[in-house]
Amino acid sequence: MKSYDVAECGCPLKLFERPTPQPAGTEVLLRVLAAGVCHSDLHFWEGSYDLGGGKKLKLTDRGMKLPLTMGHENVGEVVAMGPEAKGVKIGDRRLAYPWIGCGQCMVCRRGEENLCLKASFLGVHRPGGYADHLLVPHPRYLYEIGDLAPEVAAPLACSGITTYGALKKLGSVPQEQPIVIIGAGGLGLMCLSLLKKMGGKGAIVVDIDAVKREAAKKAGALAVVDGRAADAVKQIQGHCPDGVWGAVDLVGSGDTVKLGTDCLTKGGKLVVVGLFGGEITLPTAYIPMRAMNIQGSYVGTPAEMKELLDLVRRARPPALPITKRPLPEAYQCLQELKEGKLVGRAVLVPAG
Ligand SMILES: [Zn+2]
Ligand SMILES: [Zn+2]
Repeated sequence: MKSYDVAECGCPLKLFERPTPQPAGTEVLLRVLAAGVCHSDLHFWEGSYDLGGGKKLKLTDRGMKLPLTMGHENVGEVVAMGPEAKGVKIGDRRLAYPWIGCGQCMVCRRGEENLCLKASFLGVHRPGGYADHLLVPHPRYLYEIGDLAPEVAAPLACSGITTYGALKKLGSVPQEQPIVIIGAGGLGLMCLSLLKKMGGKGAIVVDIDAVKREAAKKAGALAVVDGRAADAVKQIQGHCPDGVWGAVDLVGSGDTVKLGTDCLTKGGKLVVVGLFGGEITLPTAYIPMRAMNIQGSYVGTPAEMKELLDLVRRARPPALPITKRPLPEAYQCLQELKEGKLVGRAVLVPAG
């Protein structure tokens, strides 16, 4: 099999040819039909997260090993399976849930494998889909996609479930009140679209880029606000007469988290999703005085994967522009993503 791997952080991906794995036990082998190029792949490729103040979190200290085949948004066709793999058959097209845990610990047993401390995520800790084949450890991680095209379904494994998982953390707020979405990139538009499908009241979308604000408006934002405006907090609050009860920060920089907490009403909640990095200084007295909730959200659970796919299959896929690119262009896509040149979501598809 062929794969395009990170052999060295920050260097061009390298083509590797290895024997195609033979699935054993409960394993299932997929032929990759679509592999989304996600913004977090840039972090894996660079090998670190910015912790603010010049500090970095090195991913090789967190269980990432090189060479790494990235790619955690995958749809494939079942081509082989181990003798104990039940529930799928050759030729099935499935979305692979990538946020695989140990399956044994308390967190995994209560259904939150995405929060397992012994994570074994596809494309992070084990080989992902920047390849022609992908080995999945158990059929329970494979989800039916119905009549969704592989390239449309693939991004649901990360950008979809990430925004869905964040919106769910706001409880009933989105159905009762407009919410605030910070960041109008791919995730922001996905978030807007899912919010609508979930019966939400809509969102005030914040971005520092006028082009992205315009895109959010076109995608149905109730209002848009420039996050860099001196009175951004006031503007946001002005659009929410009953107070800002829920906000989702898809950027996660020091500035955006500060903006998010500043605009909340007493008892409101900010869900931080983005991994841009940075730091904030927060007067601790505000936490109790404003009954403030700040919750981090990392991707989503297997149950949320299923809910999301059911929702999308019922209510049409999110209007996320998708660009299909042949697998050998994986590194080029990564570069374009880094330079902000990628239009829509790039999804790698088999070459030729
Ligand atoms: Zn676990
Ligand atoms: Zn991702």
